[in-house]
Amino acid sequence: MLEQKIKEMFGDEDPTGFGTGWWSGVLSAFFGVLAFGAVVCLHFPQLLSSPELRPHYSMAILRMLIQAVIVAAIILGLVSASLRRKKILGLTGMLFALAATLLGGASVPINETLRDGPAIGLDWFLLDMLLMTLIFSPIEVLWPAYPKQSVFRPEWLLDVVYFLSTHLPIRITSFLILLPATQLTSVLGNAGLQAAVGSLPWLVQFFLAVLVADLAEYAIHRALHVWPFLWRFHAIHHSSKALDWIAGSRAHLVDDVLIRGLMLVPMMFAFSQNIITAYLLFVTIHATWEHTNFAPTVKWLEPYLISPRFHHWHHTSQQEAIDKNFAIHFPWIDKLFGTYYYPDDRWPDTYGLANEPIPAGFWGQTFYPFRSRGM
Ligand SMILES: [Zn+2]
Ligand SMILES: [Zn+2]
Repeated sequence: MLEQKIKEMFGDEDPTGFGTGWWSGVLSAFFGVLAFGAVVCLHFPQLLSSPELRPHYSMAILRMLIQAVIVAAIILGLVSASLRRKKILGLTGMLFALAATLLGGASVPINETLRDGPAIGLDWFLLDMLLMTLIFSPIEVLWPAYPKQSVFRPEWLLDVVYFLSTHLPIRITSFLILLPATQLTSVLGNAGLQAAVGSLPWLVQFFLAVLVADLAEYAIHRALHVWPFLWRFHAIHHSSKALDWIAGSRAHLVDDVLIRGLMLVPMMFAFSQNIITAYLLFVTIHATWEHTNFAPTVKWLEPYLISPRFHHWHHTSQQEAIDKNFAIHFPWIDKLFGTYYYPDDRWPDTYGLANEPIPAGFWGQTFYPFRSRGM
């Protein structure tokens, strides 16, 4: 197992609190790998950057960001190597930063004119990984619901692979997700309805979009739980035995495409592209947020907007909450349909699948739903 090898190579028995060189080492390695990947993207932009994202990039800012990540990897690597007995984490970060610099660093010129065409979304993977880690990892480390749970809990690498698996083929995944909506709106699109909704204040439109999306999500999500064939795909998302932000990435491609693709269908009838884009941004943050290992909460908001503890109960293996809490934005949708479960102030004791053995690796899980039962 690669995860075990990484643990043996980089781990040690020394304390991992602040000031021990552990976090500086982890961050140095993380930034070093990101910087190296980013410089490789600069060398092969046609192959390794997403045509959908290119028009939105400011190269000046991106280059500054790459430079900052290289410098951070080196400084944090030095800090870690000076504080920690086992130096390999800090050295790894510095080595990747050095390799990125030797390859030209942030100033690698882009000489070719980029065309549309097949591409791997390495840029999207690196950027989203950096963004999500910066948003969610600090709060999980500082205020965890489960303080004993490490960032490098069992199966963390599997979830990174899932994150990779939706980001690298971004052209394919976004095409599949948009397919049902684009196909159906050309047939059923309603200009009158769109105009009527478009005349409402922006915030009202946005709220309605979240509501329509969540009602659709509720129906699809419940179907994924109830129909045995669909459940085999969705079971992968429920196989995580501990939750944090990246555990939310663990989902079978079919599950992802069904939920996200079908959610968009009713939205396409009534909402403008601008509102749908805003919603997609919101759902990415909110759905990731619900999986975080984060204890603090705003009590008065809990009945109106889903908090991590609510979705954690959806993931428990405890009998009391099986097939509960299907909504992803508004908990009162579950109340309305009788699937609400939210005990006071308690977090679940156990997560995952109680009686369903699932293969351990990414490919095993990908083929699992298609295999005949009893295998
Ligand atoms: Zn579910
Ligand atoms: Zn989930």
